[in-house]
Amino acid sequence: MGRDFEPVDVSIGAGIGKCSNQCRYCQLAYKKPANFSVSRYAAVVDKFLDYKAKTGFDVRQWLGYSYDFSSDDFGLFAALHRRVFDCDLKVLLLGGLPLMTGEQLAGWFSQRRNLGSESVIASFYGSDVNHDYLSSRKGHFDWLISSQNVAARLGLKNHQKIFLTKPVLPYVDEILDRLEEVDSVSSRFAYYPGG
Ligand code: SF4
Repeated sequence: MGRDFEPVDVSIGAGIGKCSNQCRYCQLAYKKPANFSVSRYAAVVDKFLDYKAKTGFDVRQWLGYSYDFSSDDFGLFAALHRRVFDCDLKVLLLGGLPLMTGEQLAGWFSQRRNLGSESVIASFYGSDVNHDYLSSRKGHFDWLISSQNVAARLGLKNHQKIFLTKPVLPYVDEILDRLEEVDSVSSRFAYYPGG
């Protein structure tokens, strides 16, 4: 005999945004982006939102692997986020973006700030050498620092996340000195990913 169960919510996700990192610890690192447009994804989520309106069934959504979308797609994604969560997509993730120049980034940030984004989050996996090794991208630590300075100049808030694993502990002072090269930081927090 089957069991009765009453679902109360659904989480929908799709890896559409190309991730330019290949973090050594990440199970998604070598995945190709799904061949699925943001507009089609939004149409699927909207079907569930219709169902939510009728039943109260809750809906959440996640769109990865990075925020490397065209500005049109980002506009669709931001509008979808607003429909699903009833608030703007306020936080931009720097993880997985291509290493844009300062000028390219200024345009990228400005477009998204005009769509309601207010802050930028960067994840640091250790000192610069360890970080670049783990993200498999030479110069990525430095790029995150300079990107956050571009964000600060455009009036966006900066958040910094440090992966605090045992091998990182001897480098904490060195990492904090580097993170202070960002002109304006709203919050800094440590994250223990387990290891
Ligand atoms: S940026 Fe994120 S999705 Fe991309 S490889 Fe690193 S952890 Fe994985």
